Amino acid sequence: MNRYVNMLLQIQELEIVLKEKNLMMETVESKNRALEELCYDISGLKKELPFEVVSPFERIFNKHGLAVCPMINSTCTGCSMKLPVGVANNVLSDKNCISCPNCGRYLFYDEQLPERPGEEIKQYKGVARFSSLELMCPNVEAGTKEDLIKYVAEKTCNAGFVGDSAKFAESLLKRENLISTAVGVGIAFPHARGINACGLTLAIGTAAKGIPENGLEEDLKIFFLSAVPVYSSVFYLELVSKLANYFSKKTNREKLLKAKTPQEMWKILVLIGK
Ligand SMILES: [Zn+2]
Repeated sequence: MNRYVNMLLQIQELEIVLKEKNLMMETVESKNRALEELCYDISGLKKELPFEVVSPFERIFNKHGLAVCPMINSTCTGCSMKLPVGVANNVLSDKNCISCPNCGRYLFYDEQLPERPGEEIKQYKGVARFSSLELMCPNVEAGTKEDLIKYVAEKTCNAGFVGDSAKFAESLLKRENLISTAVGVGIAFPHARGINACGLTLAIGTAAKGIPENGLEEDLKIFFLSAVPVYSSVFYLELVSKLANYFSKKTNREKLLKAKTPQEMWKILVLIGK
């Protein structure tokens, strides 16, 4: 990867951690210390880069929350635009910092990222752009949360969105064990960060019968499973907020639970957050 782009990516990851820390840390004293250290690291890295590289980075990061993103299938994963052949080739050649002509984000190519399956990325605007018909799993026969997560994780891997199904499931379960991702009203958001996936990926599993969850009155019925590569953290927050908002309505939850085929589920998904 181009040295500058690589450094920008590091800066971006630190900036995202900074944002998350800022949101999550409550005691002012520990917050200040941790944040100071992070800010010091970020400004140190920025000093090593030319102004004309850092300046657009800062502008775009402040505007979109993400200024460096991978090119997958010759498409900018930031704005989903198919890149002109010349631009895509320049990104592949890795000699300079190349920006997306549409959104201005810096682009990089990582051969370890799996290519996104399907003939082409359709121009979905809402949450559907992070998902696919193959990732809809209605009425999963599972007695426990673990079984359901393993089933949906395997489907996601078989469809080619995530590299290693055992690792994906393990990472999802590890996160669940840390603290449950259930948010009440029968919904959970199992997610695995830092996963080798072709961009932020959302799979949905439903269990209309319900799966009991420790400490919750309402059984879990809807699972939004995500693989969250580091550079997609910002999109993930956006995705969760759109899903949580839409499915806070009981009628919308019931509609999803009634869907018996992947096609019926997909029809609901493409309407969310357009
Ligand atoms: Zn773009």
